[in-house]
Amino acid sequence: MKCVLVTGGAGFLGSHLCDRLIQSGSHVVCLDNFFTGTRENISHLMELPNFELAERDVIWPYIKNVDEIYNLACPASPIHYQYDPVKTINTSVLGMVNMLELAKGAGAKLLQASTSEVYGDPVIHPQQESYWGNVNPIGKRSCYDEGKRCAETLCMDYHRQSEVVVKIVRIFNTYGPRMSENDGRVVSNFIVNALSGKDIEIYGDGTQTRSFQYVDDLIEGMIRMMATEDEFTGPVNIGNPGEFTMLELAHLVLELTGSKSKIVYKILPEDDPRKRKPDITLAKTKLNWEPTIPLKEGLLKTIDYFESVM
Ligand code: NAD
Ligand code: UDP
Repeated sequence: MKCVLVTGGAGFLGSHLCDRLIQSGSHVVCLDNFFTGTRENISHLMELPNFELAERDVIWPYIKNVDEIYNLACPASPIHYQYDPVKTINTSVLGMVNMLELAKGAGAKLLQASTSEVYGDPVIHPQQESYWGNVNPIGKRSCYDEGKRCAETLCMDYHRQSEVVVKIVRIFNTYGPRMSENDGRVVSNFIVNALSGKDIEIYGDGTQTRSFQYVDDLIEGMIRMMATEDEFTGPVNIGNPGEFTMLELAHLVLELTGSKSKIVYKILPEDDPRKRKPDITLAKTKLNWEPTIPLKEGLLKTIDYFESVM
């Protein structure tokens, strides 16, 4: 039985990945410090013989005989990663070193959950993997963006220097069930506020764009990436190229929830990217992958989820 480590396994994405790996017959070790993850996200797995919880912080070295590592430990929502920025950068950088050392020692393959934020506020649109990005190194988002960029560098250096098999996926905005009510990202904020009759807050004028993918599509892409030949490191964009303004998203959420919430406008946070849309040619070619769940369908599933937990 393959032994697979998922750091950040109690989080939104990590818990879906644990489910998928358990279904495919792996032994799963979930490493998490529960900063933003929850015990509820993995409670259905806790009694299974092929599931193990390692309640730890990824900034400390970890030794375990594993075959594969998916490194997801890192707060992902701006409010959470800006809460303790020094801890965020330590999580990305020290966590990455620890996981690469583990991969090196155990001879394991490692997949790094990187992000579209490595492109910063992009001047190339849509974003291809060959684009180096436009990131402010000293702003409030930098602890996340630069931490993730440095983690990519570490992956490639361990690959070149120590022949560690690494796979980098650049994940674009992903949403779905198990996002926490207080996650702070736009999809959950809009749905939670629409369902509870609170104002929907648009930051800025709402013309900024994002491309939203449903969680199941992402997990499929990550599994396919891990299965590619050892020489293929990526980075590969995993995202849904459908591009929407935040105003369009707000109206769609209002329509799908039937909510009477008002739309109000708030100040745009510093360095908020103006637009974002993945070019997924590489994922199509190398992984034979593309997203299958359109925004409306994914939002309906996510709304059902929030209705069941709120
Ligand atoms: P999340 O906040 O729900 O999950 C992060 C998980 O990591 C949580 O369980 C948290 O407790 C854990 N964690 C944080 N710091 C840790 C530490 N120091 N040690 C151990 N565990 C720690 O966020 P998510 O959306 O599930 O994101 C998971 C990963 O995917 C992150 O690395 C994020 O950067 C990346 N990503 C997510 C998105 C997205 O849209 N969801 C987009 C791009 C990249
Ligand atoms: N946003 C918004 N209202 C919210 C939360 C976010 O208008 O309640 C905006 C935010 O300013 C950004 C976009 O929605 O322009 C996506 O924000 P999110 O934090 O979800 O993701 P990221 O900015 O990291 O892509």
